[in-house]
Amino acid sequence: MSPQQSSDAESAWDARSAELAGRVTKALRTLLEDKHLYQRVEVDFGDLAESPPPVARERLAELFVENCKNAIRGPWDLADNTGHYRKVGLDQHGLRPQVPDVKLFCERCNRLEAFNSLAAEDMLGRDRQNPKYEVDEQTVQVFALSFLCQSCKSVPEVILVRRDGARLTCSGRAPMEHTPVPDAIPKPVNRYYRDAVIAYQCGQTLPGLFMLRTVIEQWVRSQRHSEERASDAIEAYRRSLPEDFRNWYPCLRKEYEDLSADIHAAIGSAELFRDAIRRIDLHFNARNLFTQANPDAFAPRPTSPSPHPAPPSGS
Ligand SMILES: [Zn+2]
Repeated sequence: MSPQQSSDAESAWDARSAELAGRVTKALRTLLEDKHLYQRVEVDFGDLAESPPPVARERLAELFVENCKNAIRGPWDLADNTGHYRKVGLDQHGLRPQVPDVKLFCERCNRLEAFNSLAAEDMLGRDRQNPKYEVDEQTVQVFALSFLCQSCKSVPEVILVRRDGARLTCSGRAPMEHTPVPDAIPKPVNRYYRDAVIAYQCGQTLPGLFMLRTVIEQWVRSQRHSEERASDAIEAYRRSLPEDFRNWYPCLRKEYEDLSADIHAAIGSAELFRDAIRRIDLHFNARNLFTQANPDAFAPRPTSPSPHPAPPSGS
């Protein structure tokens, strides 16, 4: 091999290595910006490991492919925004992906802000006696990544990312991820609403459904419907709503019944969660619109007895 060929192959490797690392950076950005606690993404390396560049032929091509596979399989050394790498003694072909700067919600600024990557540490790689962990031939690493809001530059947020092979999971956050609650959701129940969304986002749909049902129950109770059975109180609430409202908008009884049926059968339907929360949002948005048009729209008024017996209790 001539010196020229050798240097061509070297720069081809550098380019490929940067491309592989770029795929990790891209997956990290998706994980950090779009996914919630315990959700995951898979790094898409495509066929990068299988396609040697034209400058690498025969034996060199084989070597190139092997280096790509080893780089993907072996420990990675994430670099923070200073370009600082922590791991010493990493194989010369080891991947060194850059941690991306990301857009996160800043609790202090109360809006989405640019956060810069400050530090990246491989928590399992700190053990010098045993710097490499594998399960089922998949490298396991746990990275602690810190980010600083570029607007308030307050206290960095730390996100834990676990790597199993090519899979990255958001495994922890300090502080807890911000979960917005729509303005229309009334104060007495907005913490139940937030807990419902957090549970759902963490994949705990059944507890999420339970908390959504709590939103309905506690809202109705806060409206002074004190019937012993929750289903009776919810029916009394429904009957207290203006007729126009009842004709057009969800009145929470059906939502309550659907949630109860799922909870009692311990199903935990994500589809039901999305549908129920949409209808609950619609109920409260409509209440606000009605109140804007007529401040007394929901003033207590005498209710006529129900023409039908209350439906069987869901709880
Ligand atoms: Zn901020």
